[in-house]
Amino acid sequence: MAKKKFKAESQRVLDLMINSIYTNRDIFLREIISNASDAIDKLCYLSLTDDKVGMTRDQFKIRIELDKDARTVTVIDNGIGMTKEEAEANLGVIAKSGTNAFRQDLDAKKADEEDLSIIGQFGVGFYSAFMVSDKVTVETRKYGEDTGVRWESAGADGYTVEEFDKPDVGTRVIMHIKPDTEEEIYSSYLETWKIKSLVKKYSDYVRWPIEMDIEHQERKETGEKDDQGNPKYEFETVTKTETINSMVPIWQRSKTEVSDEDCANFFKETYRETKDPAVILRVNAEGTISYKAMLFIPGAEPMDAYAENRKGGITLYSNGVMIMEKSKDILHSYFDFVDGIVDSPDLSLNISREMLQHTRQLHVIGTSLEKKLKAELLKMMKEDRPKYEEFYRNFGIHFKAGVCDEYGRYKDFLKELLLFYTSEDHQVTLKEYVDAMPESQQKIYYASADTVKHAMDLPQCEEVRNRGYEIIYLNSAIDQMVMETLHEEGGKQFCNIVTEDLGFETEEEKKATEERNEENKELLDFLKESLGDRVAKVRLSGKLISQPCALTTEGPITLEMERYFRAGPSEEMRKLRATRVLEINPSHAAYAALKAAYEQGDKEKAAAYAKILAGEAELVAGVELEDTSEFVKLINDLL
Ligand code: ADP
Repeated sequence: MAKKKFKAESQRVLDLMINSIYTNRDIFLREIISNASDAIDKLCYLSLTDDKVGMTRDQFKIRIELDKDARTVTVIDNGIGMTKEEAEANLGVIAKSGTNAFRQDLDAKKADEEDLSIIGQFGVGFYSAFMVSDKVTVETRKYGEDTGVRWESAGADGYTVEEFDKPDVGTRVIMHIKPDTEEEIYSSYLETWKIKSLVKKYSDYVRWPIEMDIEHQERKETGEKDDQGNPKYEFETVTKTETINSMVPIWQRSKTEVSDEDCANFFKETYRETKDPAVILRVNAEGTISYKAMLFIPGAEPMDAYAENRKGGITLYSNGVMIMEKSKDILHSYFDFVDGIVDSPDLSLNISREMLQHTRQLHVIGTSLEKKLKAELLKMMKEDRPKYEEFYRNFGIHFKAGVCDEYGRYKDFLKELLLFYTSEDHQVTLKEYVDAMPESQQKIYYASADTVKHAMDLPQCEEVRNRGYEIIYLNSAIDQMVMETLHEEGGKQFCNIVTEDLGFETEEEKKATEERNEENKELLDFLKESLGDRVAKVRLSGKLISQPCALTTEGPITLEMERYFRAGPSEEMRKLRATRVLEINPSHAAYAALKAAYEQGDKEKAAAYAKILAGEAELVAGVELEDTSEFVKLINDLL
């Protein structure tokens, strides 16, 4: 029989498949099963209006047969089938839909390997069979035709097509599996367990039953008895036809049919979690884009949250066929902890002619799901605060990172979800903080340290608290960045009580403090000199009440940022330091003693006092003392 040539454009894609540039060969089965399912859809649809089809819905099925000796995997369907012309038109050239668009894309871009990765996400169609086969035979008979057609190809050099006698309507795709190579054990595709697992992974929710003959060992009486008179048994291999896909996914069933408990069980089984999910979100959207979604917020931070192979994230389905695991295109990274499924018939399995179109669709779905997730969380915050706080302990960090992401692009969406400590055991939202502000309060005060307790102990807090104002206590570098990104809430500016003007001093008081600094310039310069590089400046403060001193900073880098940078990836980053200022309380006895020593000419003593004050300020601010033994000695001498 004469070989016919593939159309030139088909040859290129075929070459790609045969040479397996794309490495995820497993998806070939999904593609062949999808075609079978589509063909059944067509005949089933026809049967609704055409009595002559003579089939009822429950008779349609897909069958997979494995033959180790012949090295074949065969996918059989009783769908619509193809005529000779159709077989040539559909299999001899790249189909009109997906693969063709992919080819155009390839030509347009002179695709590199990266572009090829998309073909695994969407369909690669019939040709993917050549990733695992050195020959593919398609035997098909169209509904309404008397004879069948055998189409066969062993690769890019062409195909043959002939009529033959096929007793039943439908299609058999026989894939002759390649011999094993050093890199690839193609024989695994002849193993029942492997095929079963591929069906489970990619085609579990195909609407039609996918059947396979599966061998079991069964115990059978031999008819003989043992010494005690008990029947003797032997094992025999029994082959049973089993449906290996679940067909109807839990998220496709109606809400009334599936309880929250069912959903929770599905979540625990699928994601190997032990705790019930904190939130179950079910969506059945109809409209320009229809989709069903079942999303979960885990009840605990998963043990393997950051493991590459964790099963979580959003899995994308289209009509029961899995398109993509861990899709990053639906939800923003601040919802990275959400697990679940989005299933939309509007996402075709093919590589779309317009990838952009897909991106837009995914974006529309994502935006709507994010709004719903947020609403659920706000509801939880209002109705069950302890539960929300637990959620926030587990995943709040994602929202904080989200606020800082892309120069604050998502801050307005996220800020209502943030919680801040106002004491060690109390957290508020920014809105709650502002709503509770006394009328006289002009700013939102915050203090940061490595723990809430340390932040509360900062000397600068005293004056703010004395006025009856609450302070937000931050305990991580990211908190500080969140504050800088948010900038304000309800028209009230944030104020870092360590570095910024608290806004309490009147102009006169400020002037008085300045004058006092001016008057004592000589002493302050001397103190700065005796402290060396430890601080950039020593000044008298108008902010301190009962504490003798405090460490503050000037400029953009705060002490928390410095701590954060110290663990940074580059040497340059690790070297960044805050500009430190030692503020001294001029009304405190310690200052009086220091000043007296200086004025009496005992500079050594004055310098020792300065070092003690600096050490004290550093300790309270959570800065590590550079010379602990000197500090201890100075205090002992004093005692
Ligand atoms: P696509 O599915 O994207 O159209 P494929 O390369 O997978 O592209 O298939 C090409 C065409 O071949 C299909 O559109 C369909 O018309 C036909 N086809 C493939 N498999 C079958 C089948 N099992 N039964 C009937 N027609 C089929």
